[in-house]
Amino acid sequence: MRNVLIIGSGCAGNTAAVYAARANLQPLVVMGRHAGGQLSMTTLVENFPGFPEGINGPELVENIKKQAENFGAEYVHGDVVDAELGARPFRINVEGEWIETRTLIVASGASARWLGLDSEQRLIGHGVSSCATCDGFFFSGKEIAVVGGGDSAMEEALFLTRFATRVTLLHRREHFRASKIMLDRARHNPKIKFLTGTVVEDVFDTSQHLVTGVRLKNLSTGAVWEQDVDGFFVAIGHIPNTAVFKGQIETDCDGYILSKGGARTNIAGVFHAGDVQDRVYRQAITASAAGCMAAMEAERFLEAEGH
Ligand code: NAP
Repeated sequence: MRNVLIIGSGCAGNTAAVYAARANLQPLVVMGRHAGGQLSMTTLVENFPGFPEGINGPELVENIKKQAENFGAEYVHGDVVDAELGARPFRINVEGEWIETRTLIVASGASARWLGLDSEQRLIGHGVSSCATCDGFFFSGKEIAVVGGGDSAMEEALFLTRFATRVTLLHRREHFRASKIMLDRARHNPKIKFLTGTVVEDVFDTSQHLVTGVRLKNLSTGAVWEQDVDGFFVAIGHIPNTAVFKGQIETDCDGYILSKGGARTNIAGVFHAGDVQDRVYRQAITASAAGCMAAMEAERFLEAEGH
């Protein structure tokens, strides 16, 4: 029986682990399919307070994990495949093994969103990617297309200019969600070419099992054309990882957990932290802060119950 079980090992989960471990609650962290969360797939983080020169995302998240382990937090690899939250103790199934816990912190984050094209899905890992940090290296001296108009797309495009000869940034609208600073950086990079009002209709070439090009359409003129690219990166946002709690933890229509104030969910003893609930701020620092809040609420909950 665990006092605190934390699902997710990104900034939110790891910070919750630091606080829960330091409160002597010996939390168990289920690391999830993407250990380290989104920061493990990013490059330099320049806006996490305390690092004047910035810090690499994977290093930051690993540091928080080590900090939690120093206070007695335990980590297990694996993904949560089932959950029974109707009665306490809660029961969480980690790839076949049921674990019981008095409190639960859901810090399972959000996963990359895809366009949903059949060709895109079939070419994932063969030139189609959602992670420039993971796969950019494979495209040295090549041409790449990036889809999206938010900060993620700008970040991916900028990072990929380290390797690619040219990066075409494809966005379906004229207006960008990206912050001004990121958009300006991308616009000033001579290797990045912007194509707005443009959608991707298909990715080639599934018969060769590698990306050779894309078919594009200009939404205002209706013009359709093909462009040769060697890599295709999708950076169009994320989907919260709450499917396993469907019907138990209340979410909004997009699957983000509905907060009941603080870090509380609709289930007493189940708390939320990070991007799984936050569709507004979604920063490393806000996820860490949310992890802190969730752990403090879990601690108070256990204390009130006499544990
Ligand atoms: P986002 O801001 O939600 O932007 C998603 C982009 O993808 C939008 O431009 C959207 O287009 C486009 N899109 C969505 N679905 C699409 C589809 N089916 N087909 C084509 N385009 C589609 O997501 P994000 O860029 O991942 O950023 C998420 C949050 O993380 C933001 O708060 C951001 O500031 C933050 N972030 C910060 C940094 C940084 O500071 N270094 C880096 C990455 C992310 P529309 O605009 O037309 O809807």
